[in-house]
Amino acid sequence: MKTTLPIGNVFLLPDARYNWQHVYSGGPEVNGRQIPCPRGKLFGGCTSVNGTVYMRGHPTDYDEWAVLGNEGWGYQDVLAHYKRHENYAGHASDFHGSGGELDVGKPRENNRLAHALIEAAVEGGHQRNDDFNGAQQHGFGILTSTSVAASG
Ligand SMILES: Cc1cc2nc3c(=O)[nH]c(=O)nc-3n(C[C@H](O)[C@H](O)[C@H](O)COP(=O)(O)OP(=O)(O)OC[C@H]3O[C@@H](n4cnc5c(N)ncnc54)[C@H](O)[C@@H]3O)c2cc1C
Repeated sequence: MKTTLPIGNVFLLPDARYNWQHVYSGGPEVNGRQIPCPRGKLFGGCTSVNGTVYMRGHPTDYDEWAVLGNEGWGYQDVLAHYKRHENYAGHASDFHGSGGELDVGKPRENNRLAHALIEAAVEGGHQRNDDFNGAQQHGFGILTSTSVAASG
């Protein structure tokens, strides 16, 4: 089976034909809770059931990999590849590329509650973040997605 509609994951995940439906048996750290861990059981694996959110790893994680001896895996190294790969719906910049194979953009419309949540967070002293793949990853904002055409 192959999926084409990203929104379909909410229908696929409850079905054991498409989801391995693993469950972690938690230890004392999580009060013994059983924690569901959905995993795609179809062509494309989890990519066929995921939420298409486009968020890169944190820069310090890549830099730590490089410090541990993994040459070419520091943040500036991988950023060059991310940019080359990307077709960003905003402007090309220090953090984004255009003309690559992967369309990345913000949803054209968002539920009003999403904006209300962001405004409440900002009012509560949290940082607004309009680009989680930009200069910093902290804060509240609208995520970018790979299911939004860059031309849209
Ligand atoms: C519900 C959900 C939402 C997600 N949302 C996002 C998101 O919005 N953005 C994002 O970046 N990432 C998201 N992810 C994570 C992302 O999809 C995964 O990290 C990524 O797809 C993993 O790719 P992979 O190739 O390593 O593994 P997988 O895609 O899991 O591939 C493993 C493959 O091996 C198969 N397999 C496993 N065991 C066996 C076996 N014993 N025999 C035969 N085949 C087997 C599986 O069926 C699967 O096809 C999400 C994941 C899930 C589950």
